[in-house]
Amino acid sequence: MDCIPFGRKDHAGAVRKIVRRNRKVKVVATLGPASSSPEMIEKLFVAGADVFRINMSHTSHQLLTEFYGHIRGIEERLGRPITILADLQGPKIRIGTFENKEVQIQAGDSFTFDGDPTPGNKTRVCLPHPEIFAAAKAGDSLLLNDGRLRVEILSAETGRLDTRVVFGGTLSDRKGVNLPDTVIPIPAMTEKDRADLEAAASLGVDWIALSFVQRASDVAEARKLVRGRCGVVAKIEKPSAIASLAEILEIADGIMVARGDLGVELPLETVPGCQKQITRAARRAGKPVIVATQMLESMIVEPVPTRAEVSDVATAVYEGADAIMLSAESASGKWPDKSVSTMDKIAQAVERDELYRGIINAQRSDPQPTSSDAISAAARSIAETLNLAAIVCYTSSGSTGLRVSRERPDVPIIALTPITATARRLGLAWGLHCVLTEDAHDLDDMVSRAASIARTEAFAQPGQRVIITAGVPLRTPGSTNMLRIAFVGER
Ligand code: PGA
Ligand code: MN
Repeated sequence: MDCIPFGRKDHAGAVRKIVRRNRKVKVVATLGPASSSPEMIEKLFVAGADVFRINMSHTSHQLLTEFYGHIRGIEERLGRPITILADLQGPKIRIGTFENKEVQIQAGDSFTFDGDPTPGNKTRVCLPHPEIFAAAKAGDSLLLNDGRLRVEILSAETGRLDTRVVFGGTLSDRKGVNLPDTVIPIPAMTEKDRADLEAAASLGVDWIALSFVQRASDVAEARKLVRGRCGVVAKIEKPSAIASLAEILEIADGIMVARGDLGVELPLETVPGCQKQITRAARRAGKPVIVATQMLESMIVEPVPTRAEVSDVATAVYEGADAIMLSAESASGKWPDKSVSTMDKIAQAVERDELYRGIINAQRSDPQPTSSDAISAAARSIAETLNLAAIVCYTSSGSTGLRVSRERPDVPIIALTPITATARRLGLAWGLHCVLTEDAHDLDDMVSRAASIARTEAFAQPGQRVIITAGVPLRTPGSTNMLRIAFVGER
């Protein structure tokens, strides 16, 4: 975080706290029953959550609208843009519910999946996906609850699957099902996804995430429905998505390493390698990449994470991921804000570590032959050489902001934009502190405004210098062509 406590007066004379982070990597916190009140959402934001994820698998349109209103209210009160990501369920296969919310099943037990929507028990549960009964065959495995439980199909008939439990455990309402052995003809988006996408995009969320993407055309289909209203994150959680990663990266605006389903669909031991491969490819492309799932899993119940979890979060930060994500830890765990502050602390420590810079720089890609990339690379080099206080970049569509972020500079980056949607959307990207500001009148105004915002947002002291990048004439998209070093004054 930090809320700089001394604050400063806004136009109306009210003192507002200045929130700035002391880290580059962003934190995504999923909202849910443990974090549905405006008070808790604000606590999460102050603790370090930059992006709120709303999981449409568990959120009604009514609740989505409430979450949205709470977040925008906090944004207004604290004067900082906040990023909202609506995560579509996708063609995820889930079981129905149980009479008593959960059952215990043991190795050797018989268990049946059928189409009967009445709540299940120790011997059966509903599997509301008729296409599976047709596609599955005896001998195929069904993995349940992120692969924790495994059953083997004994016989598949119209409307039911009789199985034997191989690895037992607790099975509770609406747990996910994966069928790694079965080819199921699933569409990229379900009817529910289309309705959820429209609800989220028309509300004004900044990003939507697409689950179980298999090919680039799945992303293209979503983009068409989104019509530019928000960015599209492709969740990489199927082997086929890894196979077409390059094409998916070309068309998606961002990527998520969705390790939960990825670790079920692929051998678990291959997931760390995939994570590195996906993160590096996204960094090369300059598209935000989120590392997700089980990052601080034990904090769902415990107030302190395991050493292995701390190390896992650190790995993603050292790799230069744009964002690290909390799921159940913040959505339904016992310690939602503590999970966020723990992630924040780990990230800050990694970024201060003396090995961090070298590791980040080793994966930096050369600038593309565009003026935006050339200027971004030069800005980083000058800022680092002269030990400047910050890079301040004017960006209207956000694309220049992303190219500066792609450079992974050692100094803070302030992205200035007159467009609210840009400020919000860029909140997912590594290192970008976004500030809304009206268009500058002329070059002098632009320079003094950049310097003064660097000071008021607590990134620069009077007497320090910043480097400014902009496009002249002002507000011509794609025209970034100017670099200017400026002193920060007293006011
Ligand atoms: P989910 O996606 O939580 O929506 O399943 C993330 C993952 O699979 O890791
Ligand atoms: Mn998933």
